Amino acid sequence: MHRIYNFSAGPAVLPVPVLEEASQAILEIGGSGMSILEVSHRGKQYDPIHAAAMENALKVLNLSPEEYAVILLGGGASTQFTLLPMNFLAAGETADYVDAGEWGAKALKEAKAYGTVNVAGSSSGTKYDRLPTPLNFSPRGAARYAHITTNNTIEGTQYLELPDANGAPLTSDMSSDIFAVNHDFSRFALLYAGAQKNAGAAGVTLIVVRRDFLATAKKDLPPMFSYALQADKESLYNTPPVFSVYVFNLVMQWIQAQGGVAAMEARNREKAALIYDALDAAPEFWSPAVAVKANRSLMNITFRLRDESLTDAFLSEAKVNQMDGLKGHRNVGGFRASVYNAFPGEGCAALAQLLTDFARRKG
Ligand SMILES: *Cc1c(COP(=O)(O)O)cnc(C)c1O
Repeated sequence: MHRIYNFSAGPAVLPVPVLEEASQAILEIGGSGMSILEVSHRGKQYDPIHAAAMENALKVLNLSPEEYAVILLGGGASTQFTLLPMNFLAAGETADYVDAGEWGAKALKEAKAYGTVNVAGSSSGTKYDRLPTPLNFSPRGAARYAHITTNNTIEGTQYLELPDANGAPLTSDMSSDIFAVNHDFSRFALLYAGAQKNAGAAGVTLIVVRRDFLATAKKDLPPMFSYALQADKESLYNTPPVFSVYVFNLVMQWIQAQGGVAAMEARNREKAALIYDALDAAPEFWSPAVAVKANRSLMNITFRLRDESLTDAFLSEAKVNQMDGLKGHRNVGGFRASVYNAFPGEGCAALAQLLTDFARRKG
């Protein structure tokens, strides 16, 4: 198998053992004479996979099934921007939102259709080049929930420490750093993540919700949009994204075999440091996009050339060196190296080397 260094922001690189096992399962799953793509979502091939995916997700997050429910849905993280307020926010109620990036801004906008939004902090004035400070959450007891984005995929900032939301139930879009940072996940009332960045293939979205918070959700919702109903039906109200759930479960097993989220975080810190160190060593040549070092993402490393006329030259050298996906998001430009859990350390070392060499030769 030919592999390049795939820095894509999402869908993104997967662990090779996961790809190998999934490719086998596409031909035949568990001696059944059928492909994983061909089996019933209510049959004996899929049943244990579905249950294991939910169980393993909680295990990896160090949460108990008594306290937390897992929901696996289609629709992506973007659908949760709507479902979260649809389920939990009513007219006359307030939700706190932190506006730290394009994705969080979209979530915030959706919530406004359901209730009052208190913008607890925003860094839009500096083009999201840092996490907003200070954060002004509603007084204790006043907010229905607070919403953050733990990793701002487009801009390259990340909460490595969770903010204190004055006791409001903390909810988060963790699409690009779920399972990458060893948070105390019991601090979340609800978290969600599309699988395609750090947790598998596109098509399934993970929602983890504390059962006592879920019990306060609105009841009169269309069934497909009701977190309570989906949890009650164990995400089998209709056909789940079978193959994506299967791959998600393989990734859960892979993370456990690697030593869990704590081991992931330790590796992610080392990997990101290789690249940031190379950028910081040539400040007259490279310009990291995030203004505050402590806010730098371990997942999405955003940077620019001081002399942008060298952009194409750099990208073509990256290509020669078997690197792909380094172009920044179309809205922000520059470069972005996405180095999620499954991205190999050697790829980070190779990019660091290229950054250093390129600066030496062209600077
Ligand atoms: C990619 C991304 C999204 C969008 O995810 P979809 O699954 O495409 O809806 C939302 N939030 C964050 C933080 C992301 O990185």
